[in-house]
Amino acid sequence: MTHQEKTGAYIADAGARAWQVPGLDPATPKRAIATVGIIGAGTMGGGIAMNFATAGFNVRIVETAQAALDRGLAVVRGNYQRSADKGRFPQDEVETRMARFDGRLAIADLADCDLVIEAVFEDMDLKKTIFTELDRVMKPGAILATNTSALDIDEIAAVTERPGDVIGLHFFSPANVMKLLEIVRARHTSEDVVATCMDLARTINKIAVLVGVCPGFVGNRILFARQKQANKLVYRGVMPWDVDAALNAFGFKMGPFQMSDLAGLDIGWSKGATTDNPIRDALCEMDRRGQKTQAGYYDYDAARRPVPSDVTAGVIRDITGAEPSQMASDDILKTLIHPMINEAVKILEENKAQRPSDVDVVWLNGYGWPPDSGGPMWYGDMVGAAEVLATMEELGREDPEFAPAQTLRALASRGGSFTQIDTGGLKTD
Ligand code: NAD
Repeated sequence: MTHQEKTGAYIADAGARAWQVPGLDPATPKRAIATVGIIGAGTMGGGIAMNFATAGFNVRIVETAQAALDRGLAVVRGNYQRSADKGRFPQDEVETRMARFDGRLAIADLADCDLVIEAVFEDMDLKKTIFTELDRVMKPGAILATNTSALDIDEIAAVTERPGDVIGLHFFSPANVMKLLEIVRARHTSEDVVATCMDLARTINKIAVLVGVCPGFVGNRILFARQKQANKLVYRGVMPWDVDAALNAFGFKMGPFQMSDLAGLDIGWSKGATTDNPIRDALCEMDRRGQKTQAGYYDYDAARRPVPSDVTAGVIRDITGAEPSQMASDDILKTLIHPMINEAVKILEENKAQRPSDVDVVWLNGYGWPPDSGGPMWYGDMVGAAEVLATMEELGREDPEFAPAQTLRALASRGGSFTQIDTGGLKTD
């Protein structure tokens, strides 16, 4: 077998294994799900709802105001219409799917839903208020899920009298398209809720990975590590487009700064804010908020193609005081990718993932990791633990958050592979 064939076989096996939940009795009874409630009809709520409507579920969707509800449902209809226009399904299917939607303005109207997925702003207080109300109004046995990207689901569950019914269902944007679903098992989530959600993921045609509660879970936690290193490089004078270009050459369609421009630099920012990212703050103040304002880290030409920006380079120089510096593409890659491998190892050490290959399934299906290098763990084995350790020793000296994981040291000194790490699987206590 060539290495390429081995990588393909590994990916297929990893995808199949992600469905297996050791310790969960296959005979665990599933809860019946017919009507799904969604709270929030924004970017995520609308896309999440589409998955269920497409699969034949009734969807009840709640917003705070009629205008927001109308806007959200119009986006859903537009998405279905575009698919019908492309010939993916007949026109009357658009109406069939839309007829499954029932828009409401009160959470109490969800009371008889079998599953509720909360997709409101990423704000702990707001989520706690919503879960307090869900606890009060929902019928017994309803599954209460949150789509939070990074918040502590144990803390959310703790405001209810039924933490066994609370789980994370972390969809990826655009939620009607992206295959990955991180199912986040919180401390008290009951077995039948896990079993039901794994089953449901199959029904709505997702690839499920069961993970534990930690900031960012598996996918975003690793993404945060990469993002932090990307920002550090910019502080050393490496230009955002050079950082992105190294990742593009590795096979990622988008690097961190291209992603920021697409998502909008002003996510989590408001006018006058001084966050831990002063470059971003300055760009936002200049109304360089990403593709939507035709300028962000990049300038955009008439054809909306990103071009390196002298304005951004000037902002970076003013804020960091660093002279523009060239760094070899390989060195940029090491600095961004080895910390992802190290973070994945820490996730396994903390028992927040079931197995190393699940990390790869997450990154392949949720974050566009190039299949030819199989995911962070498979790629770690291609590079070898010694090389990853060398990078992390250096980065760890600058910032203890990036100190090498114990298991990374062990692999480097005693041998063994990342994909074979066995720390005992997922644990929730
Ligand atoms: P969004 O701002 O697009 O949508 C949030 C919606 O919630 C808004 O339409 C708002 O009116 C509505 N809302 C707020 N309070 C409400 C309430 N009390 N009752 C009913 N509706 C209410 O945000 P989003 O990007 O869809 O993010 C939603 C959640 O999904 C967040 O927790 C976010 O972290 C998470 N998430 C986002 C992404 C992403 O890429 N955007 C990916 C994964 C997870």
